[in-house]
Amino acid sequence: MSTDQNKFQAIISHCKEYGFVFPSSEIYDGLSAVYDYGQYGSELKKNIKDYWWKSMTQLHENIVGIDAAIFMHPTTWKASGHVDNFSDPMIDNKDSKKRYRVDHLIEAYVETLPEAEGNAVLAQMDELLKENDFAGLKTLIEEKKITCSVSGTSNWTDVRQFNLMFSTQLGSVTDEANEIYLRPETAQGIFVNFLNVQKTGRMKVPFGIAQIGKAFRNEIVARQFIFRMREFEQMEMQFFVRPGTQKEWYEKWKEERMQWHLSLGTDPSKYRFKDHVKLAHYADAAVDIEFDFPIGFKEVEGIHSRGDFDLKQHQEYSKKKLQYFDTEINQNYVPYVIETSIGLDRMFLLTVCNAYEEQDLSTPEKADSRVVMKFPAKLAPIKLAVFPLTKKDGLPETAQLLVNECKQHFHCYYEEKDSIGKRYRRQDAIGTPFCVTVDHQTKEDGTVTIRYRDSMEQERVPLTEVKNIVLNKIM
Ligand code: ATP
Repeated sequence: MSTDQNKFQAIISHCKEYGFVFPSSEIYDGLSAVYDYGQYGSELKKNIKDYWWKSMTQLHENIVGIDAAIFMHPTTWKASGHVDNFSDPMIDNKDSKKRYRVDHLIEAYVETLPEAEGNAVLAQMDELLKENDFAGLKTLIEEKKITCSVSGTSNWTDVRQFNLMFSTQLGSVTDEANEIYLRPETAQGIFVNFLNVQKTGRMKVPFGIAQIGKAFRNEIVARQFIFRMREFEQMEMQFFVRPGTQKEWYEKWKEERMQWHLSLGTDPSKYRFKDHVKLAHYADAAVDIEFDFPIGFKEVEGIHSRGDFDLKQHQEYSKKKLQYFDTEINQNYVPYVIETSIGLDRMFLLTVCNAYEEQDLSTPEKADSRVVMKFPAKLAPIKLAVFPLTKKDGLPETAQLLVNECKQHFHCYYEEKDSIGKRYRRQDAIGTPFCVTVDHQTKEDGTVTIRYRDSMEQERVPLTEVKNIVLNKIM
């Protein structure tokens, strides 16, 4: 295992130990590739969401937000191409007629192997899946003599495609006409509402529609914590432009989205653009924004120039015109679309990986260390922790008054247990940027000690200034 793999494991453990991310329904041994956000994780996630929402909608006069339903008319997914093209490989046993997802079949086999050997098979499988090498997958299954759990034979069909959408039934009658899907992306909720928003909002092209919401994919390779989940959240924006201007808008959004990432203070060398080599047939251009995770450079966000593909498809399938009359050029047209699509959970993972630091603070006299989450103050789950030095002499009361004053504006945490040093460490571990200690001097001159998470420096400031100091850093 490389050091970075160790770091990734340490981050996963930290997320669990400090209430950021738990495996879903853990008391029942969890559910594969599904996770729950804990008390600090849900705050962090919400802060990331708010930061994106504000920068996309409030700060852009020509972008508005919507919140579409997860369930959509099934024809939506015919039109979008997901019914026919959104798929993964599967295989059938000819004797038992049992159908397996290729990854599940191989994973079950790997469980029976020693760890190192199993990992080698998984790596081989991941490579073949990535290459869409179905013949290679079948050869792997045959070479390893993997058998069906029902028939016990290895009499397999060829590997074929399996759709990644989850389906369920609408209403109480089970028949095919009632089959609907959990949306695999939020974008289609925006496309089908294009005219609703354009007309009621009196929007003029170019304009955008943003949305944050859950998406569901029955992912085939899902073993990297919250990097690839079966239930996840997307933050998407579709920007509608006049045909012919898409190249310049694509460049603009590519730049603007990278600036958004860098505005959080991340080292630019941790980011890179990666152009798509294989473009979808309708796409003009597509690029990923990749981040240097401990598991390597990986996609966090995609920027896609989608032409008029989606609106045209919906126009054809719904038989409703999805056009815009451009008064500047006196023309009707189906707008072209630039999409920016970022995974909220992946941005969460990025934020956590980027913040996590193990520090050795040993001195010749004493061994010491800490884990600190250096979250941007804007995103930190708790902004300010307030500690009375002791539990008596009126110090808790003064500390509580400060909490009461500040909690209207941002999230605070009050604690009086253990030594101040231990309390600082606990706040470092959840990434609280400011800690304030109320002591006996506070009663004399109205000052408190403020301690900064990253530098660990401490200074005395007037109690009455604390709220503004914090507000200045988080706005
Ligand atoms: P990948 O190639 O990683 O499967 P994708 O290219 O299919 O991703 P898009 O369909 O472009 O992804 O989705 C946009 C964003 O949604 C991705 O950049 C990613 O951040 C996020 N995302 C996609 N699938 C998942 C998933 N299974 N779990 C978490 N986030 C996801």
